[in-house]
Amino acid sequence: MPDLAPYAVTENNSRGRQVPEPYPVARGEFQRDRDRIVHSTAFRRLEYKTQVFVNHEGDLFRTRLTHSIEVAQITRSIARALHLNEDLAEAVALSHDLGHTPFGHAGQDALNGCMKEHGGFEHNLQSLRIVDRLEESYASFDGLNLMHETREGILKHCSPRNAELLGEIGKRFIEGRQPSLEAQLANLADEIAYNNHDIDDGLRSGLITLDQLDQVSIFRRNRETVEADYPGLGGRRLIHETVRRMIHQMAMGLIEQTRANIAAAGVASLDEVHRAPRLVAYPAGLLPELRVLKTFLRENLYHHYQVLRMTDKARRIIRDLFQAFMGDPRLLPPQYLHMARTDTPRAIADYIAGMTDRYAMREHRRLFAVGEIH
Ligand code: MG
Repeated sequence: MPDLAPYAVTENNSRGRQVPEPYPVARGEFQRDRDRIVHSTAFRRLEYKTQVFVNHEGDLFRTRLTHSIEVAQITRSIARALHLNEDLAEAVALSHDLGHTPFGHAGQDALNGCMKEHGGFEHNLQSLRIVDRLEESYASFDGLNLMHETREGILKHCSPRNAELLGEIGKRFIEGRQPSLEAQLANLADEIAYNNHDIDDGLRSGLITLDQLDQVSIFRRNRETVEADYPGLGGRRLIHETVRRMIHQMAMGLIEQTRANIAAAGVASLDEVHRAPRLVAYPAGLLPELRVLKTFLRENLYHHYQVLRMTDKARRIIRDLFQAFMGDPRLLPPQYLHMARTDTPRAIADYIAGMTDRYAMREHRRLFAVGEIH
């Protein structure tokens, strides 16, 4: 890869794969990781999983798949500007949401509640579990056998208890070390993506309005710039021109602040990245504006009564499914029944977490709809 900074992850400073493999032909190790993720079953399922809106509510809203692609785009652009390892950054971005349950955060919270006595459920840990164990594609190993740094990037946060259980990959949480800059970047690019596309989806759905968004200074300011440049512009074009300026402002802020942080810390190697404080960051001036934006989205979109009705129903579906399978694990499909012999609740959580929105609804109907016996 051309022109990498001395603190970027490379194949030379990487800790490699758990199961040794021959060097890939005509591509690098991190390209191979990215490719394995794109070819995985869990990645395809993202197409039918909720970001904010349930998949069938409209064809134009973001799904986990299009969200992940937008995160990868932003991550890759910023990684290039900072001379980081684009392939690693992209691999982390594309896989960051693989462990999400159906129905977004409501689904995760419900499943975590069901798993309370059995080790809990956390989508971020589940993403790692998928790439480490659950994908069944390769003859000589479970999972995708990804590079250490890709796995490290997927595991964004972790409780001390889970860190102990995870061994090597969990160590940095106990020792207080940072992940690579590529991983730090993918994490913040996730935020840039959803803060902006949720405005777009929110407006498209009619659950929030342009008038309401005047409370959000970063939106209002950019909208006023667009209107000054293009008087009379309205509708979709006005929204898109505003949102693209916001993405640009956040991405540029991140690039400049991160460069300054790296210089100030005198970081010149990957090892120093691990030992330094978090270096990928927004400029301090942008933080209050981002907080206002997040609060606005939470209060007006994520907690909109129409969204809450959906999430309430979603929670019920997840709980019903979990209880039905716990009550009689023989209702599980054979592959999961097999896994249930070692750990029944975990096998059920794996099965439910892997469902798409529509599969979960169908499964719920199959198990509970009275008058439908087939
Ligand atoms: Mg995400």
